[in-house]
Amino acid sequence: MKVVLKNLTKRFPSRTKKGDDVIAVNDFNFEIPDGKLIGLLGPSGCGKSTTLNLISGLEAPTSGQIFFGDDDVTRLPPENRGVGLVFQNYALYPHLTVQDNILFPLQSMKGKNKPGKQEMLDKAREAARLVQIDELMDRKPSELSGGQQQRVAIARALVKMPRVLLLDEPLSNLDARLRLQTREEIRRIQQETGVTTIFVTHDQDEAMSISDMIVVMKAGVVQQIGQPQDVYDDPENLFVATFLGTPPINVFDGRVANGMLMLGDQAVLPVKGAPDGPVTAAIRPEGFVLDAAGPFRCALQRVEVMGRDTSVVSTHPASRNAVVRSIIPARQRPDAALETVRFSLMPEKVHLFDPETGNRVRFDL
Ligand code: ATP
Repeated sequence: MKVVLKNLTKRFPSRTKKGDDVIAVNDFNFEIPDGKLIGLLGPSGCGKSTTLNLISGLEAPTSGQIFFGDDDVTRLPPENRGVGLVFQNYALYPHLTVQDNILFPLQSMKGKNKPGKQEMLDKAREAARLVQIDELMDRKPSELSGGQQQRVAIARALVKMPRVLLLDEPLSNLDARLRLQTREEIRRIQQETGVTTIFVTHDQDEAMSISDMIVVMKAGVVQQIGQPQDVYDDPENLFVATFLGTPPINVFDGRVANGMLMLGDQAVLPVKGAPDGPVTAAIRPEGFVLDAAGPFRCALQRVEVMGRDTSVVSTHPASRNAVVRSIIPARQRPDAALETVRFSLMPEKVHLFDPETGNRVRFDL
């Protein structure tokens, strides 16, 4: 089911006379293709949950429209939209077995579409099989691990075969290992069912690893939409560049002079096509190449072994961050006793931004 958001806006009125209204979602336009998994990503308070609540119908928009396929669902109550919802807190019924928890949405149905008893059981078993908890149907939630509880919550959201599946930080309560495993499960389940899914998280790794497309939001405004790798490789503004990537991108105050990027007094990279003047330069940690004759010179602080890679931690006078972090293959590890470490830069890993607006300034690669 394709989902279309048209000029979607949600304004929460201020609680005090003098306070400003909060625009939690500001003119959101997006067409979510049928059967895709979309990661909605951004820092706390950027409007992710509000967007999801608007799509589910738990909140009404101040303006704009929502379509599921060709149906305008903007004014439909949540129960008539055909959405499956999973929240951070699984909210399973503690006194019901796993099976009864999964059956609950079917049993609550009214009217002629309500399935018969056997059909309900079949649907519940099918949903449980999909999330691989069919062995646990007779247990109570307190007898399950966190990951198993979350699977029950997902089975319960899937049992009515929703038109759209909405997941709001579904993995937050799980430990790191289980998080990793469960996110892969979510991907598998989504691909097996083909249900259009919107997944809210503040964890960029999580969103990037399982999404067909990501939407990066800041203060209610969409910053960029695209395939995860494209957004990482080609950020439209400094916010997106700094939000995506671990370790984070290194940010410098620099300038462009005669087609060269200057960081301090070092001419570090030709950037033909970028206008002369001050610029914010951001360099991905993997964009540094150890090079004894390289133009980019940093004061070496320490070398951290990370197994496959080595992290070289240094300082540079033009850096906005306390340290510059570069990632190089382990076998190229520099001598930790060196005072200065020299690099050349991979041009495609260097992004320039307007210091005033934060918008991308492009140069010829
Ligand atoms: P988090 O990751 O912390 O859950 P989020 O990106 O999901 O954050 P939202 O919960 O959508 O953010 O909130 C967006 C903005 O709207 C925030 O500034 C929040 O304080 C505000 N907001 C959310 N709900 C209400 C409400 N019912 N009344 C007033 N303001 C609200």
